[in-house]
Amino acid sequence: MNNGEKIEKVYTQLPVVAIIGRPNVGKSTLFNRLTRRRKAMVLKVPGVTRDRNYQHIRWNGYEFLLVDTGGFEPESNDQNLALIREQTQIAIDEADVILFVTDGKELLHPNDELIMQQLRTTKKPVFLVVNKCDTPEREHSAYEFLKLGVDKVYPVSAAHNINIDKMMNDVVAALPHPGEHEEVRTSIRVAIIGKPNVGKSTLLNTILGEKRVVVSETPGTTRDAVDTLIKYRGKMYTLIDTAGIKRRGKIKHLIDRLSVSATVMSLERCDIALIVCDATEGITRQDQHIAGYALESGRGIIIVINKWDLINKSQENVALWQKRVQRAFQFVDFAPVIYISALTGKRVNKIFDLIDSVYSEYTRRIPTSELNKAIEEITAQHKPPSWQGREVKIKYATQVSTAPPTIVLFTNHPEAIHFSYERYIQNQLRQRFGFLGTPLRLIWRKPKRK
Ligand code: GDP
Repeated sequence: MNNGEKIEKVYTQLPVVAIIGRPNVGKSTLFNRLTRRRKAMVLKVPGVTRDRNYQHIRWNGYEFLLVDTGGFEPESNDQNLALIREQTQIAIDEADVILFVTDGKELLHPNDELIMQQLRTTKKPVFLVVNKCDTPEREHSAYEFLKLGVDKVYPVSAAHNINIDKMMNDVVAALPHPGEHEEVRTSIRVAIIGKPNVGKSTLLNTILGEKRVVVSETPGTTRDAVDTLIKYRGKMYTLIDTAGIKRRGKIKHLIDRLSVSATVMSLERCDIALIVCDATEGITRQDQHIAGYALESGRGIIIVINKWDLINKSQENVALWQKRVQRAFQFVDFAPVIYISALTGKRVNKIFDLIDSVYSEYTRRIPTSELNKAIEEITAQHKPPSWQGREVKIKYATQVSTAPPTIVLFTNHPEAIHFSYERYIQNQLRQRFGFLGTPLRLIWRKPKRK
């Protein structure tokens, strides 16, 4: 950054809560129970297993990252000790709070004792969760787990949602420094995503004015690369760095899966995604997939074409590039494109201008009267095609939320609205209101009868 504006690094990290335990004790059920308030993102990439091991959670105003290390189990019946040790170690190294899940139906298992021994090496808060306590009798026998040497056990049923709220109240209370994340909450969250080697780390380092992100195997420091709260021109931004997450994988074969979930996880948590592409490679299918995820997750999108320093900038070539980018990213044609060099810093500060503009569109609210006036004009210009011989009318529209802007349109026949007509409305709304860089969601509903 060369415009004299200093970027100030303020704070890093979101607290991490890890779920561990033997196979089949119900870790995934618990994970799903805690995340079910949120709409899960569905990935439709051939060859990539859907992976929901990380999830950003807001629970009673507290925010944390929930990690289910159990997602790495090759076979659910496998009591592979090495694997259990590995998971436990990851949790000890990277979590702030550990949920150690046991099975109230099977009672104490020798491997529970082994896990507990390992957990005794950490000073981090460990919650002993006795799952499958669906009946008062089971809840009662859960106290047998006190033998593990803990002060308290949490009998719960993840499947039937018993005692989960009670447990979570204690869990959020144990998170580090509650309240400290206020600035993270109000900052603009920007995820830097893209396939490997496009220059994500370089971009982050240039923004932070650091030569290199410190990569260290010491527990605690690897995590610090994940979230960075910065202050720039008096505004707060949280940079979410997936490259940092990639490094978290201590185990080689996990790295691929981690980087997929890292992208998803960053998208879950961000307002705006910078989709970084490598100009020396052109726009690839993978770049398109990644932009597709961002679209699906409803985040603001900025296309960043990096390594522009290595490209011939003749007029024809630049025009060719613009055309190429436009074609490849047609499905997100609302997203602004910026050509940068993360290495030299060229135009890197301009990214922040774009972030500000996209964010204000992403959080924009159109007054109902203005919106309805527009919808009236738009539908008068081009009526929805009739359906089964009946006239389709759009009666009323209202914006129900921002981030991304979501508009409900009331019609007598929601089922009759074709994709192409929806696209028409979207384009027209964009022409009138802009919505630069943000997806725009339309929901069709039948008005409620009195
Ligand atoms: P990441 O995997 O996306 O984090 O990519 P890195 O930041 O590690 O960059 C991959 C390689 O590309 C490194 O050798 C960088 O020095 C190089 N690189 C990154 N950005 C630029 C750029 O703008 N111009 C040039 N010439 N090289 C770059």
